[in-house]
Amino acid sequence: MTTRREFLKQSSVIAAGTLLAPKVFSMNLISKPSVIILGAGLSGLAAAMKLKDNGYEVTILEARKRIGGRVFSHKITDEPVPEDNLVIELGAEWIGGSHERIIALCDQFGLVTENNRFKDRLIYKGEFFKPGEWDYSPEWKVKFEKILSDYKYLTDADKVRLDKMDWWRFLMNHDIPDRDLDIREYADSTDFGESIRFVSAYSALAEYAESNEYNEMDFKVKGGNSLIADAMADKVGRDIILTDHKVTDINSSGKISVKCSNGKNFTADMLICTVPTFAMSKINWSPGLPPEKIEAINALQYSRIIKSATLFRERFWKDEEFSILTDSYTHYFYHATKNQKSPKGVLITYAVGDKADILSQMGEEHRIKIITDTLKSAVGDVSGYVEKNINYFWGDDEYSKGAYALYGKGQWFGIMPVLRESFGNVHFAGEHVADWQGFMEGAINSGEDAADKIMS
Ligand SMILES: Cc1cc2nc3c(=O)[nH]c(=O)nc-3n(C[C@H](O)[C@H](O)[C@H](O)COP(=O)(O)OP(=O)(O)OC[C@H]3O[C@@H](n4cnc5c(N)ncnc54)[C@H](O)[C@@H]3O)c2cc1C
Repeated sequence: MTTRREFLKQSSVIAAGTLLAPKVFSMNLISKPSVIILGAGLSGLAAAMKLKDNGYEVTILEARKRIGGRVFSHKITDEPVPEDNLVIELGAEWIGGSHERIIALCDQFGLVTENNRFKDRLIYKGEFFKPGEWDYSPEWKVKFEKILSDYKYLTDADKVRLDKMDWWRFLMNHDIPDRDLDIREYADSTDFGESIRFVSAYSALAEYAESNEYNEMDFKVKGGNSLIADAMADKVGRDIILTDHKVTDINSSGKISVKCSNGKNFTADMLICTVPTFAMSKINWSPGLPPEKIEAINALQYSRIIKSATLFRERFWKDEEFSILTDSYTHYFYHATKNQKSPKGVLITYAVGDKADILSQMGEEHRIKIITDTLKSAVGDVSGYVEKNINYFWGDDEYSKGAYALYGKGQWFGIMPVLRESFGNVHFAGEHVADWQGFMEGAINSGEDAADKIMS
């Protein structure tokens, strides 16, 4: 069986062809080339770490006033003793058990990873089900197990064919019963950030067949996932990371020259661009990016996810592993302060797609009412426990306009190879071009792959 990582490497031929690059400047460099990296998310930091370790001169330009990008831990309380504060994740939450590089980095930096698994309840058609009281139907469970185990027999041509249909259609073609389909829609759209009607069947099947039994929702860093970005930044040296430097122009016709919106200019021999495709489309590229790349950028959507974090005075849910999958706007609840000692606690409402859009547009009072009304059937009226609520809607994020890339029908093999393709001395990285796409692991892998291209 070829994994997604192996297959994507082989399958660049399926893409529109190798991108025509501007003339690459002389590679007969005596010293190692200098490198500018766009973005201090995990992919940019991973690329920088590898290059710095190998003696390259690196500068990271980051548009935001902070590092970490879509890894974004937040202190939701303001306690007199700083260590007593509760930390939640507004971006990436779970480290997967199969995610080897990020786990290795946590080990390298002495970061503690804690169990962050949950036991899902279900609210469906007005009824509440505790763990053990709901499941997929026995017939569907048998069928789905077989689908997952048969994945290893798929040929490369089968995978390309599968990519041309959506996950909803694939499940329908396998005669999934209605209730099972509804539950898969709620669960799987939580993973992809949009309805499964918009997700490539290949991208979904590969993720489920290659993931562990917890679907990579395994761990979290004690103290917040942002500590990973902090440790990586300390390792490369904070002095080479320039925050509040939004790149507006890139000229790669000879030596690379880069302009920032604050008026600062930089030059280097090579560039690694790790920014999401929306941010890429806002940069003036000279010479312009090849038409296939522009088409791919225009074709790729990002999922809409809102995280609404409600701080409650008491942990009325009792079970530290509390989570609920719902068929309402609120979509998915989980206990976001598991392992953190306090009488207070946070439930995060994680909504996707149109539900996220609708929740994001509501006034705060209305949003909190929707949240507590949904919780009513599970835990009774808890509106009196609400201390505060904060929200981050990734669909409005200035740089990504979404949480992570959403590969739709035909796009995994159609456009990902094009987005990955280097353009002269410019290499591309970021979760959107990774085999572990949509994960921190993918961001790190892609950054390290881009560094390898420079070092090869
Ligand atoms: C709500 C949500 C939930 C998630 N859940 C999980 C999860 O549970 N597990 C998991 O593994 N992953 C999860 N992810 C995905 C994970 O966060 C990403 O895959 C990963 O952090 C992406 O890293 P990156 O370096 O590719 O991109 P980013 O983190 O976006 O880094 C790119 C950087 O480029 C900067 N930038 C943009 N434009 C410019 C410019 N013009 N000039 C300079 N800098 C620029 C941005 O500010 C950003 O800091 C989640 C993401 C979100 C949003």
